Amino acid sequence: MIRDTYRLSNGEYDLIVIGGGINGAAIANLASSKGLKVALLEKNDFASGTSSKSTKLIHGGLRYLENFHFSLVREALRERSIQVKKAPHLVKPLEFIVPVYKEAKRPLWLIRLGVTLYDILSGASTLGRRQYLSNKKILQNVPGLKQENLIGGVSYFDAQMDDARLCLENVMQADAQGAHVANYIEVRELIKENGRCVGVRTYDHIDGRYCTIKAKNIIAAVGPWTNEFMRKEKNQSPGQIRPTKGVHLVYAGRFSKKAILVFNEDDGRVFFIIPWGENTLIGTTDTDYKKGADDVSVNDEDIGYLLEATRRVFPNRSIDPSNIIDTFAGLRPLIKDEGSPSKVSRECVINQSFSGIYYILGGKYTTYRKIAEDCLKKIYSNKFRFSQKEFCVYGGGRITESVAAVSKKFSVAEDIVERIMAVYGSRYEDVLKIVTDGPKYKKRLTTNTDIIQAQIIYAQEKEMAQTKEDIYYRRLGMRYLVKDAKAMIKEIEQVIINRSH
Ligand SMILES: Cc1cc2nc3c(=O)[nH]c(=O)nc-3n(C[C@H](O)[C@H](O)[C@H](O)COP(=O)(O)OP(=O)(O)OC[C@H]3O[C@@H](n4cnc5c(N)ncnc54)[C@H](O)[C@@H]3O)c2cc1C
Repeated sequence: MIRDTYRLSNGEYDLIVIGGGINGAAIANLASSKGLKVALLEKNDFASGTSSKSTKLIHGGLRYLENFHFSLVREALRERSIQVKKAPHLVKPLEFIVPVYKEAKRPLWLIRLGVTLYDILSGASTLGRRQYLSNKKILQNVPGLKQENLIGGVSYFDAQMDDARLCLENVMQADAQGAHVANYIEVRELIKENGRCVGVRTYDHIDGRYCTIKAKNIIAAVGPWTNEFMRKEKNQSPGQIRPTKGVHLVYAGRFSKKAILVFNEDDGRVFFIIPWGENTLIGTTDTDYKKGADDVSVNDEDIGYLLEATRRVFPNRSIDPSNIIDTFAGLRPLIKDEGSPSKVSRECVINQSFSGIYYILGGKYTTYRKIAEDCLKKIYSNKFRFSQKEFCVYGGGRITESVAAVSKKFSVAEDIVERIMAVYGSRYEDVLKIVTDGPKYKKRLTTNTDIIQAQIIYAQEKEMAQTKEDIYYRRLGMRYLVKDAKAMIKEIEQVIINRSH
């Protein structure tokens, strides 16, 4: 992927997509697959906004059933099955355990009904059958779980994904189909002719240059930045989204091999305790957020809420803040609505503003492909047909070679080949080819022996990573695995310096 800003400034596009989160990336992917001339502009790194701060579930959303959002759940389950097929290296089935207690606001029969309905709505695309579980079975699966008043529970299947890489692979697919994509390019102003927006004025955060890019149609897929962006059209715009903040903790060690869905009886909210590698992702909070989208951060109250909720479910386990590896906060770009944040619909709306810009409002990560399809159908009045079969993400092809054969071909250890296949899917050879530049590229990092130097070079030269943080957080996903971020980021920097010498 080449970041060619000269090309961008000279281009006349069918479509400018603003925002390189999952929605913008998917729109660029689908539009370029239809031969449209597309520019995708992201002011920071791809997926640096909400699309790397999610709970990392491709799911129907069991809890939306109690709000009777059946069509949303059915659609999300359909999309889940597409993602599991089209990006099998990044989207994988995961079993969830739901323990139920005597004092629970949602009784056991309701939870059983919920998972039954969930399986029925999944139809043929189910990832595994639900089970009704006894106390004994639950405690076998989740040792250390609170036993007092436990009256049984259920298990069901959903999917877990790597959100930042799935977004990146949509960007890379768009690039491979001819889209011009660039990160660190911010849209600062809108260019209008006769009241209609015909282009954008951008600022390049890498070289400090401004440029003008024109297009027949413009889409703002700027997620939680929507209200701020709308003010570029109209100073006093009240905005159309209601951002709510969600915080996660990465906690050292595992609580269970399976994911756990628990109801926090204090506020009735759902939260997850999910295995991620050898560690655990705990989240999330859901609170209204009024400040600028660039300023979102985690505070002590957020951490306290999640630790307390976890302690309640694991009363005999010492839940110690010193075991927190990292924390992160994201903003849900929900459609403006009244009521408690958890109750606001996750549905997506595509609106056109008075100057002709299309805005993506609301939605969830899971339905990103459908959101992109709906958006393009709206703009091009159903001119294009989108089939699920045609949809591709960059590394989603079939892997036909065995780990042993690839290991022999590149003289790289089998465990490394296995991991590279798990991250880059069918594009594993693109990464491994770098080891032919010199034996040092197959060396493992000292700060994380699961990673080899070639992956850092690949991130920088082929995946458009601009900074060592882009590599650490989003290309390699190290925030969930490594406690000493500083040391690893320093080593990444050293590998890059050595390459240029
Ligand atoms: C805590 C939390 C947990 C979640 N968990 C899940 C989950 O498990 N499953 C699920 O399906 N959904 C989940 N979601 C929802 C999902 O993550 C979001 O719906 C989705 O990521 C939104 O993607 P987006 O592309 O609209 O926004 P973003 O990813 O935020 O992308 C918008 C991009 O626009 C860029 N931008 C802004 N202004 C400009 C400008 N002027 N010029 C250029 N670029 C600009 C930003 O830098 C940003 O990268 C979760 C959300 C949160 C907050």
